[in-house]
Amino acid sequence: MCNIPKDMKWSFSRLQTYDQCPLAFKLQYIDNLPQEQNAYAEYGTFCHSLLERWAKGELMSFELADAYVEGYDAAIREYFPPFPRGLAGKYYDEGLAYFQSFDGFGEEYEILSVEDKFCIDLRGHSFDGIADLILRDRNSGEITVIDHKSKSLPSMKKKLFENTRQLYIYAAYVKERFGVFPALLRFNMFRYGLNIDEPFRMECYEETLDWIERTISRIDADKDWLVSSSGYFCRWICSCRAHCPIGEEIIHAHERSCPE
Ligand code: SF4
Repeated sequence: MCNIPKDMKWSFSRLQTYDQCPLAFKLQYIDNLPQEQNAYAEYGTFCHSLLERWAKGELMSFELADAYVEGYDAAIREYFPPFPRGLAGKYYDEGLAYFQSFDGFGEEYEILSVEDKFCIDLRGHSFDGIADLILRDRNSGEITVIDHKSKSLPSMKKKLFENTRQLYIYAAYVKERFGVFPALLRFNMFRYGLNIDEPFRMECYEETLDWIERTISRIDADKDWLVSSSGYFCRWICSCRAHCPIGEEIIHAHERSCPE
């Protein structure tokens, strides 16, 4: 069986969606059903846009906090989940604190590219991506690729190995554009004001390419489209929650097992 349309464009998030819930992948990328927004995604997009404007010289560091406050309500239209309690306020405050104290990414770096949209071939598959920020150390010449993340630190760390594959895909683009692999892969966990750094390792890069091939083969052969069992994800995050034939069932089962 061949599920994959010939013109399918791949990305890290598409493969991650399949790992998260095969049915969600089918609904979004094979059936092409309309996708829903969620507050987490809107928040991430908004904060990315401010960092992009700074990196392009459109906003100064000292203007970021004001731009954040002024643009927040228009940018985040969806509701954050009501639990854990105080989530919406926590996200707002953490973003504000980050932009109030923002002082760039280090004088030792020059910016090579910002929100760089790319399309590359990885083992015969066409991959799209957007590299948030690519820097070069003025002294060593080494390149760092940065992804800004609004995700929670515990969930990031819990699946760090899997999440870092995203940066290995970006590393392939860096090699194609600049001729060398980046020395450092960095997640800018901006809500926490800290970085998660991974030195580039060729064996992890190869593992990422293997994972890509493996996952695409599984998608192509999938007949069952199994579902995510996380009611929280179904209720608040899944982009196709409005069209899912069994999402409601999972959500109700989740709410019965943890009513708060
Ligand atoms: S609502 Fe849940 S089960 Fe349905 S597609 Fe989304 S994640 Fe999968």
